[in-house]
Amino acid sequence: MTFLSANELDDGAVLEADVVVVGSGAAGLSLARKLGQQGEKVLLVEAGDLTLDGATQGLYRGEQLGVEYYDLSAFRLRYYGGTTNHWSGFCQRNDRIDYEGRLELDLPKWPVDDTELDPYITDAAKLLGLSGAPTDPEAALKTRNLPVQDLLDSRSSILRSKIFQFSFDRRLGPRFSDGLKQSKNIDVVLNLNARSIELSEDGGSVRHVSCATMSGKRVTIKGRFIALCCHAIENARLLLNSDSVHPEGVGNASSHVGRNFMEHPHLFSSLFFPTSAFPVIYDRKFLAARGQNLNLSMTDDTLRRERLLHYYCRFNPVFVDQDADDALSSLKGDPWRAGDMAFLQDVAEVVSGLGGIVQRAAMRRGFWNATAPVYRLEHRIEQSPNPNGCIVLSDKHDRLGDRIADLDWQFSDHDVDTFERGQRLIAKELAALGMGRVALEPIDRSRVEAEAKGHYHHIGLTRMSDDLASGVVDRHCKVHGVDNLYIGGSSIFPTAGYSGPTMMIMGFALRLADHLSERLNA
Ligand SMILES: Cc1cc2nc3c(=O)[nH]c(=O)nc-3n(C[C@H](O)[C@H](O)[C@H](O)COP(=O)(O)OP(=O)(O)OC[C@H]3O[C@@H](n4cnc5c(N)ncnc54)[C@H](O)[C@@H]3O)c2cc1C
Repeated sequence: MTFLSANELDDGAVLEADVVVVGSGAAGLSLARKLGQQGEKVLLVEAGDLTLDGATQGLYRGEQLGVEYYDLSAFRLRYYGGTTNHWSGFCQRNDRIDYEGRLELDLPKWPVDDTELDPYITDAAKLLGLSGAPTDPEAALKTRNLPVQDLLDSRSSILRSKIFQFSFDRRLGPRFSDGLKQSKNIDVVLNLNARSIELSEDGGSVRHVSCATMSGKRVTIKGRFIALCCHAIENARLLLNSDSVHPEGVGNASSHVGRNFMEHPHLFSSLFFPTSAFPVIYDRKFLAARGQNLNLSMTDDTLRRERLLHYYCRFNPVFVDQDADDALSSLKGDPWRAGDMAFLQDVAEVVSGLGGIVQRAAMRRGFWNATAPVYRLEHRIEQSPNPNGCIVLSDKHDRLGDRIADLDWQFSDHDVDTFERGQRLIAKELAALGMGRVALEPIDRSRVEAEAKGHYHHIGLTRMSDDLASGVVDRHCKVHGVDNLYIGGSSIFPTAGYSGPTMMIMGFALRLADHLSERLNA
C-alpha cells in the first residue's frame, strides 16, 4: 500500500481503481481493508492528513436550525481514521426487534435481518478486539464475580437489563495501518476532498468523482465502483451538492436524501431514593469502577405492547449535595487568607456534607458496596425517523466553494412520549418491586427540546429501503437508480435501534466488500 498526498499530484490529475472508497473512518477502513484482502484494487480517498489540520476540519462547519446540537465542525473528525480517532468504543449489535419495523412508531422494516448481518457483525466485533467479550449482563457480571441473582430481570415481567461491550482497541486508523501497508492492492490518497459525484448523461452510473485539495488542485477519481463512507451528514451533503444531472441531487428522486436524522438522545430527570433492596450493580459509578456497565431497559414485549421506542435508564449516584460539592472544589483550588469569610463558609458546607464526600471517595476506590442515598436518573432513547429532522444545504459555501450543510435536529411526538412514559413505567415498576421511590419530574416537549443531548451518533439521512419511493439505497447499500454508487456508514440505517452505531457500520461495510467482490468477479 502507498500513502500518497494529493498535494504532490499535478493539477488535473486522474486516478483510477476498481473500487474507490471515499473516507477512511470506521466504514471506509473496514471496507477497503477487506476488499484488499480479497484481491481487489482499491483507492482509498481521504480528505485529511494523518493528523488533524484546522482548515480541512473546518469544511465540516454547519449551523443549527433546530434543537441545539453539538458543534458540527468539532465532533466528526476529518482526517485518516475519521471519528474513530476519538470515539468512546461502546458497542452492541441490534436486537431482532430492530429489524422488524413497527409502523405505529414510524419505524420501517429493514430490508436485511439479523440472520444475514450477524456473521458480519461478529467479524466486526473481532476487528474491535471484542471476541469473547460478554454480550449479556449475566456473563458480564460473572467475569467480575458480581451477584448475577441481583439482576431485576427475573423479578419483573417488564424490565430487561442490558449492557454494552467496550472496545479498548478502537483507534482504527493506527490499528489498521500495519495490515494495510502490507497490502499490494490498496493505495491511500490523503489531503483530497471529494466535492461532487458526476453522473453519466442518463444519470444511471457515476462517471467520476470530482475532488480538490485545500490549495485548490483539482483531481478526478474514476472507479468501476464508488463507495461513499464520509460519515452520515457528509454522505448526504455530497449527494445533494452533486446536482449537475439531477437538480435535486444524486439518489434523491423521492426526496429522502438528507432526511430522517436520528440520534440516541439522553435526558437527566428525577431523583430516585432506593431502599436497601435496590441492587448496587445498577449503580453506574460502582460498575464503571469495575469496568462494566448495566442499564435498565424493557423487554421487547413491553416495548411492543406499550408502543415505545427503545428506552433505557441509568442510575447516577448523588452522594453530596451541590453546595457541599462546589465548596469542596473551591477549597481544593483556593488557599486560605486571613479574614477570608467565604473560605470559612466553604469549610462549613464541606463539614455538613462530609458523610457523602467520604462515601463517594470510598465508592471510587472500590471500598463502598452499598447503594447511594439518592440517584439522578438518566433516560436514553432511540429516536424515530422523522423526515423533518434533516440537513439543509445553506447558501453559504465552504473554503472549497461547496454549499455547507446545516442541521435541523427535531424530536417527534414518539420521542417525547417514550421519554415521558418510559420514565413513568420504570418508576412504577421500581416501586412495585420495593426498590425505592422516584420523585417524578414532569417531562414534556419543551423540556426535551431544552435539555436532551445527543450521543454523537448520526443516523439516517440516506436510508436503506427496497423501494425507491421510501429510501435512498437498496439492501446492498447501492444508491437506487445509480448502478455503481454505494454508501457506507450509519446514514443507511432505517432506524436507530438501541446500540451505538459503529460496530454495525463496520459489519455493513464488511458485507458490502463481499457484494462488491462478487460483482467485480461476476
Ligand atoms: C465523542 C464521540 C464518542 C463516540 N462514541 C461512540 C460509541 O461509544 N459507540 C459508537 O458506536 N459510536 C460512537 N461514536 C460515533 C462513531 O465515532 C461514528 O459512528 C463512526 O466514527 C462513524 O464512522 P464513519 O466511517 O461513518 O465516519 P468517520 O469515522 O467520521 O469517517 C469518515 C471519514 O471520511 C472522511 N471524509 C469526510 N468527508 C470527506 C470528503 N468529502 N472527501 C474525502 N474524505 C472525506 C473523513 O475525513 C473521515 O476520515 C462517537 C462519536 C463521538 C464524536
